[in-house]
Amino acid sequence: MGVTFQDYYKILGVDRNATDKEIKAAYRKLARKWHPDLHTGKAKEEAEEKFKQINEAYEVLKDPEKRAKYDRLGANWQAGQDFRPPPDMDGFEFYTNFDGGAGGFSDFFELLFGGSSPFGRAARGRAAHRGPLRGQDVESELELTLEEAYRGGEKTLQLSTGELCPACGGTGHNDMAFCPACGGTGETTATRTLTVKIPPGVREGSRIRLKGQGGEGLNGGARGDLYLKVRLLPHPVFKVLGEDLETEITLRPEQAVLGDRVTVPTLDGPVTMKVPAGTRSGKRLRLRGKGLPRRDGRGDEYVRVNIDIPEHLSAEEERLYRQLAALRKGV
Ligand SMILES: [Zn+2]
Repeated sequence: MGVTFQDYYKILGVDRNATDKEIKAAYRKLARKWHPDLHTGKAKEEAEEKFKQINEAYEVLKDPEKRAKYDRLGANWQAGQDFRPPPDMDGFEFYTNFDGGAGGFSDFFELLFGGSSPFGRAARGRAAHRGPLRGQDVESELELTLEEAYRGGEKTLQLSTGELCPACGGTGHNDMAFCPACGGTGETTATRTLTVKIPPGVREGSRIRLKGQGGEGLNGGARGDLYLKVRLLPHPVFKVLGEDLETEITLRPEQAVLGDRVTVPTLDGPVTMKVPAGTRSGKRLRLRGKGLPRRDGRGDEYVRVNIDIPEHLSAEEERLYRQLAALRKGV
């Protein structure tokens, strides 16, 4: 049986170095155009064939592993060429024991990836695994304020996730017709509201695992897990420097010269800090242990000093500054 090469990039009309986003956009556009339900008679047959090709191409190009495997065949193959697995490809496993895809994906696809998938990933998963199949792990972002990350607690968030299409149970088809609810992909998007427990002291990039909140399993398989990657929102007062924090205070000249006790913000609320006499502009004063939690306690908070020069002086103040100036000249 001859196997013909499929040019998946050409089918989707994208570049060989197209991004995932471009591939998805191209697929969506073509899938809408060629959806068999939108055509009748002879045109419907053509649309079904196109739609099948588009889905097959997308099946491969949207999946980094499959795409990499496909790309390893090289760019020299032409669409429709007789394809025989190159004998010199190391570690390249071909599925030669397939039984000629009956109405499913092309023989080329079967040879490369095995399994039989009439209409999409979910269905192939079902065909390949008769037993329960665990759902995929899913990663999403969780934006937190610095305070939320520091204190932890609960947060409610809305999440869009891919769910098995309820109309077709994830097979993508009903009685051999494409499922209109999901357009044959077997997946629909749903918005879920989740309450997340945030452990105190999470950092930018920390991952919070929500067991069983990932992709749905198949054939009674468990759901995958959801990983929420923490992203800290910019804070109006604190800059995060690893486990340390930095903030700024503004002093009047006499406070900097003579020293003072000032109130500064910390994550635990305002504290009083001693400013030593003769503090220069730009100096960083350290508040030990007022930073973010770390293995052995907490980081520090640095308070950067700005000195503000008063714009308007009272007559008395000006007289005293002049007196100071005269004194300086005499030193
Ligand atoms: Zn469906």
